[in-house]
Amino acid sequence: MDTTIFTGFELAARIKQGVKARVAALGRRPRCTLLLDGSNAGAAAYAQRLVASADDVGIEMVPAEYAANAEAVRTQLQAEGDAMMALYPIPSFIGRDEVARLIGPERDVDGLHPLNAGGVLLGERNARPPATARACVLILEELLGSLKGREIAVVGASAVVGRPLALMLLDREATVTVCHAATADLASHTREAEVVISATGVAGLIRAGHITEGSILLDVGIVRTEKGLVGDVDLESVSGRASLVTHVPDGVGPVTTACLLENIVSAAEARAIS
Ligand code: NAD
Repeated sequence: MDTTIFTGFELAARIKQGVKARVAALGRRPRCTLLLDGSNAGAAAYAQRLVASADDVGIEMVPAEYAANAEAVRTQLQAEGDAMMALYPIPSFIGRDEVARLIGPERDVDGLHPLNAGGVLLGERNARPPATARACVLILEELLGSLKGREIAVVGASAVVGRPLALMLLDREATVTVCHAATADLASHTREAEVVISATGVAGLIRAGHITEGSILLDVGIVRTEKGLVGDVDLESVSGRASLVTHVPDGVGPVTTACLLENIVSAAEARAIS
């Protein structure tokens, strides 16, 4: 069997077209502050890509270094604007929960504020989900159409990817199995699925023995190694057995960025009507 390598550029371009039109209708540039630790190479590179992508669709993304102490970061997190993002790694002196609370539900575009996470849990129509989870759903709908009745294994259960993704797939009437680091026999679950979405950050975790012939693999993981960026899927091992694997980092990545831009314009629109 030939294994297709999926890149997300075309789907991302379509989503970005929609964002651009919404920015034009808004009549002003949405503004998002992007706090980051610029000494972290991964965060700095990601921020640079975000600034450029945002600019493409008319969104102003303003990067700023985290301040040196908790009080100053608290002030930064409450700055004016449509949206606020706190990139990982966040400073050790402030907790992730506090960051989400200070940003508040209106300016949260990562779907990490409890109100936004709750909106996803309840399947609210206007919920603002984490961008990566939404990207995975959109990619699957692009590939398969309706997800109703599909057997899907999600590997990884973090608040930012696995959990919201599982809920969003449930909402679309898929049958979802969620696996994590304490799952005793991962392969016994993933082998039963026609789609495996892996978001663990464990390089090469998913191998031929984990999947059924013809399955679709969405590889969310991004791991920096000496050989460059790799994902959760061992590409060499699954080649010829999977029908499709998403490219790392150009599969889920570009679609995630486009979905993040959607969340930013949603935040600006909500502000305009409040
Ligand atoms: P995390 O560390 O918060 O969560 C990892 C999850 O994987 C946990 O639920 C853990 O139980 C599970 N896990 C760990 N080892 C496992 C194993 N051996 N078997 C099964 N499950 C295991 O990580 P995260 O923030 O969710 O990110 C996961 C990966 O996705 C990272 O590589 C990250 O860089 C990447 N990521 C990519 C995008 C994108 O747009 N492509 C976006 C966000 C995160």
